[in-house]
Amino acid sequence: MKYISTRGNYEKVNSAKAITLGMVPNGGLFIPESIPKLNTEEMDKMINTSYQEITANIFNKFLTDFTNDEIEEVIKKAYNNVNFDDEDLTPIKKLNDNLYIMELWHGPTAAFKDMALQMLPHLLIKSKEKLNAKEETVILVATSGDTGKAALEGFKNIEGIKIIVFYPEEGVSEVQKLQMNTTNGNNTYVVALKGNFDDCQTGVKNIFSDNEFKAKLDAENIKLSSANSINWGRLLPQIVYYFKAYFDLVKKGEIKKGEKINFSVPTGNFGNILAGYYAKRMGLPVNKFICASNENKILTDFFETGIYDTKREFHKTMSPSMDILISSNLERFLFEMTDKNSEKLNGWYDKLQKTGKFQIDEESLKKMKEIIIAGFCDEKETLKTINETYNKYNYVLDTHTSVAVKVANDLKLGKIIVNSTASPYKFSTNVLKGLGEKMQDEMKAVERISEISKTEIHRAVEGIDKKEIIHKRKTTQNEMKKVVLEILGK
Ligand SMILES: *Cc1c(COP(=O)(O)O)cnc(C)c1O
Repeated sequence: MKYISTRGNYEKVNSAKAITLGMVPNGGLFIPESIPKLNTEEMDKMINTSYQEITANIFNKFLTDFTNDEIEEVIKKAYNNVNFDDEDLTPIKKLNDNLYIMELWHGPTAAFKDMALQMLPHLLIKSKEKLNAKEETVILVATSGDTGKAALEGFKNIEGIKIIVFYPEEGVSEVQKLQMNTTNGNNTYVVALKGNFDDCQTGVKNIFSDNEFKAKLDAENIKLSSANSINWGRLLPQIVYYFKAYFDLVKKGEIKKGEKINFSVPTGNFGNILAGYYAKRMGLPVNKFICASNENKILTDFFETGIYDTKREFHKTMSPSMDILISSNLERFLFEMTDKNSEKLNGWYDKLQKTGKFQIDEESLKKMKEIIIAGFCDEKETLKTINETYNKYNYVLDTHTSVAVKVANDLKLGKIIVNSTASPYKFSTNVLKGLGEKMQDEMKAVERISEISKTEIHRAVEGIDKKEIIHKRKTTQNEMKKVVLEILGK
C-alpha cells in the first residue's frame, strides 16, 4: 500500500514514510492510494474477536510495510488494560432501540483523542526504526485543551522523542490546565502562552516554517514534528472503533449481519468522521454519517450549499474542541469526492487562502450528500439535550456528545450510534448546568456530577487538584523559539 499527496505534489511513499513525515512537505495530506476492502467472510470472523484483533486486521491492510510482529507490538503497547479502563476499549451504551452511545473516552485523558494518540507514538517510533532514521524528534503542539494532554500522555517517556505543548494561558479550562501541568515523564514540556489559541497556533506554525531555525536544529540532528490529526498515523487507529461498534451490535442481537447503521459524530477538524468514511469504503454497512457542529456551523452550511466560507463570526462555545473554522481533514474527503482530482483541489484551496472561501461543483456536492448529513446545535439546545437525556435515560452526556445527540434526534434515520468524544467529567461546569445546577468551581462540579449521576469520577480528573504542578513555564509568542531552544538545551 502506497500513500499519495492530495495536492499531487509528492512521490508515492510507504506508510512508515507517510507517518514519519506527518504532512506532505510541499503542502497537502497523505492518503492511501486505494482503500482496501474487508469481505463478508473476513468481517464475519471478526465479530467475536477483541478490539486488539480488529485493530490488527485493519492495520494489516494499510500498513503493508509493517510485519505482523511489528503490528502486534504497537497494539500491545497502545491498547492495553493500563491505558484503557474498559476491556472493550470503546463500550456501547444503549439508550433506546434507535439510539446508542459509543464511549470513546476510556483512555488516560478522558477524551476521544486518546484512541489515536495512544497509538501514534508507537507507530512513529516503529516507522523511524524501519526507515533507519536516527534523529531526535521534537513534537510541537499548540492546543486549545484536549489535544495537549492526550499528546503528552501518548508521547511521555518515549525514547528518542521530546514533546513541547503550548497552550493559551487564559484559553483552557481549569481542569485542562491542571491535566497538562501535572504531567510527569522525562520528555514532557508544557508552556503557558500569553495570548489566545490563535497566537499559540501561529507561533507554532512560524517555528515550523522558519528554515533558519530548522537548519539550526538539523545541525544538532533534531527534527520537528507535529501530533495533530493531519498525520495518517492518527487517522488510521480511528477506523477501528467504527467496525467494533458494528460487531458489538451484531453480537448483542441489536442488528442483523449486514444491516446498515448510522453514526452521529461531533465534528471539529473532520478527523473522526473521516475515519468512519474510510470504514464504510472498506465495507462497513453504513447508511449515513451525521456531521454535527455547534454554533460554528461552517460545515453544516458547506454540506447544504457547497460553499465553504470562513469569513464569519467565530463563537466560543461550551463544546470548545469543536470551535474550528478550518477543518483540515475535509481536504482528504474532498479529494475522494472528486475522484482524486488534485487540480480541482489545488484550485479550491488556493481560493480559500486568497479569499477565505471556495465553492465546489454540483457533482461533488451531490456525492457528498449521499454519504453525509450535516446539522448543528446551539448552546441552549446543548444544555437542554444534556437535561432531557439524563431525565429520560439516566445517562450524562458531555457538551460535545450532546451536540451530536441533538442533531441525531432531529433526524429519523433508524439506528444511530453517537460517537461520545469526551467524559462529562471533563467539562463539568457546563454539564452540571445542563443537569440544572450552577457551580463555578470545576472540581466541585465534578464531585456534584458524581453525586447526582452515581457514576465514578473519571481517573483523568479525580484528585487532579491535589497533584503536584510540574510545569510552570510561561512565554509570549515572540519568545517561543527561544523557549524551544532552552528546553532542548541548545
Ligand atoms: C477533538 C475533539 C472533537 C473533534 O474531533 P475531530 O476529529 O477534530 O472532528 C470533538 N469532541 C472532542 C471532545 C474532541 O476532543
